Amino acid sequence: MAKEIPPRQDMPRQPPKVRAANFKEVALGYSEEQALLEASRCLQCKTRPCVGGCPVEIAIPDFIKKISERDYAEAARILKEKNSLPAVCGRVCPQEDQCEKVCVLGKKGEPVAIGRLERFAADWEAMNHPSHQPSAEKRSNAKTGRVAVVGSGPSGLTLAGDLARLGHRVVIFEALHKPGGVLVYGIPEFRLPKAIVEREIEFIKSLGVEIRTDYVIGRILTIDDLFKEGFDAVYVATGAGLPKFMGIPGENLNGVYSANEYLTRSNLMKAYLFPEYKTPLKNGKKVAVVGGGNVAMDAARTALRLGADAVHLIYRRSRAEMPARIEEVENAEEEGIIFHFLVNPVRILGEVKENETGKWVRAIECIKMELGEPDESGRRSPVPVKGSEFTMPMDIVIMAIGTGANPLLSSATPDLPINKSGYIIIEPETGRTDKPGVWAGGDIVTGSATVIEAMGAGRRAARAIHEYIIKKHK
Ligand code: FAD
Ligand code: SF4
Ligand code: SF4
Repeated sequence: MAKEIPPRQDMPRQPPKVRAANFKEVALGYSEEQALLEASRCLQCKTRPCVGGCPVEIAIPDFIKKISERDYAEAARILKEKNSLPAVCGRVCPQEDQCEKVCVLGKKGEPVAIGRLERFAADWEAMNHPSHQPSAEKRSNAKTGRVAVVGSGPSGLTLAGDLARLGHRVVIFEALHKPGGVLVYGIPEFRLPKAIVEREIEFIKSLGVEIRTDYVIGRILTIDDLFKEGFDAVYVATGAGLPKFMGIPGENLNGVYSANEYLTRSNLMKAYLFPEYKTPLKNGKKVAVVGGGNVAMDAARTALRLGADAVHLIYRRSRAEMPARIEEVENAEEEGIIFHFLVNPVRILGEVKENETGKWVRAIECIKMELGEPDESGRRSPVPVKGSEFTMPMDIVIMAIGTGANPLLSSATPDLPINKSGYIIIEPETGRTDKPGVWAGGDIVTGSATVIEAMGAGRRAARAIHEYIIKKHK
């Protein structure tokens, strides 16, 4: 008789009204009972299609089997063999487009909740072995080299962890005062608690990786200086953090932020605790967020938690074209974010306010859109509907329409090949650039992508750098 498969286990979450007023994590994680039920759904397929759907090829059926045997420590160990940030990926990976998309169960029903099980095992390990010491796996007998990593986001951290495990001495140079890249400055606490990122970074440090913060490469030292200091190889993982604006009138008014600045002030600089913390952030009662991706959802939900009465999300295409994860769109809707589809801003209107200097946002003027022919991305292009302009009063406007490559490092390294958008050109299988000894990966190569893709790039480059160093030291 065929195995009876229980339904996919829902993730318990804070109720919408409660969570919209706090920064605590929204999703609460599986109980042991739920994890066991969910793990029991896995068919342990011989062909293991789910493994191919994971950019770092986690042995998914194996770690799930260990969960169903209640051997959570072994499940966590299997995860960490391929993924140095499992508690992060279990929370923020777009699983529905990766491992879960190809799960056999998904063909006729609902796939195994692989990400949620990953989070369960990683959290169990953190709770039960908070000071996990990887000393036994720390150093192999490889000839050691010195590797400099520029940027401490998921790509740089993964590469650093992998090379440290192979016995190399790795130093990460980070421009900001805290390591973690977007994991700390971009993704908000209510989706990814910072204590979890810190714990995973501590694990990487425990492998012997050194992290130097407040260290901008391209200003304090150049890549060539790093070679002069004795590094054998350099991995560039500087992300794509340069905000884009629409180029409409009024974007220079006070009260207009890029999503990156808004989220960084809130997440990293604790602006919501001003004046206890030094960085201010204007708290608007009426907030507009422009964009339809995960960053727009994060900015809108942050504005709500910072005390806005109404947060309006303005997106020029329809709901079906939204690039944000469905789960995050649903979370935002439940919390009360007001969505305006097929609408695009045309200008931001300002006024002089009493006791304030300069001109401040007063309103946003938008135009209605309709969908035309598909563009080069395959999505139908939005076209303005003539004469349909309308105005909504606003105090704050947040632009979340994408980011680009920061030119700082590439302009200080003229022989590092970049494309016309400023992204570094690499050999895809290895991450090697045409500049000798320099590799690159993550968002600075692909443009804005995902945490796990950035980690996959770090893993591939680590293998290539290891081989390069072994050859060099022969
Ligand atoms: P980053 O994480 O951007 O890290 C780059 C680091 O390099 C930064 O710390 C930066 O300060 C540092 N740096 C830059 N220049 C220099 C320099 N010259 N010298 C020294 N250091 C430098 N992905 C998902 O998978 N799921 C999500 O839910 C998700 N949500 C997101 C939400 C937001 C708000 C944002 C902005 C992105 C989100 N992403 C998400 C995308 C994901 O975070 C990125 O794809 C990923 O972080 C890229 O990793 P990275 O290591 O390439 O770069
Ligand atoms: Fe799936 Fe991401 Fe975990 Fe890989 S890292 S198994 S893609 S959730
Ligand atoms: Fe389990 Fe799905 Fe992977 Fe099959 S495809 S082994 S059911 S997770």
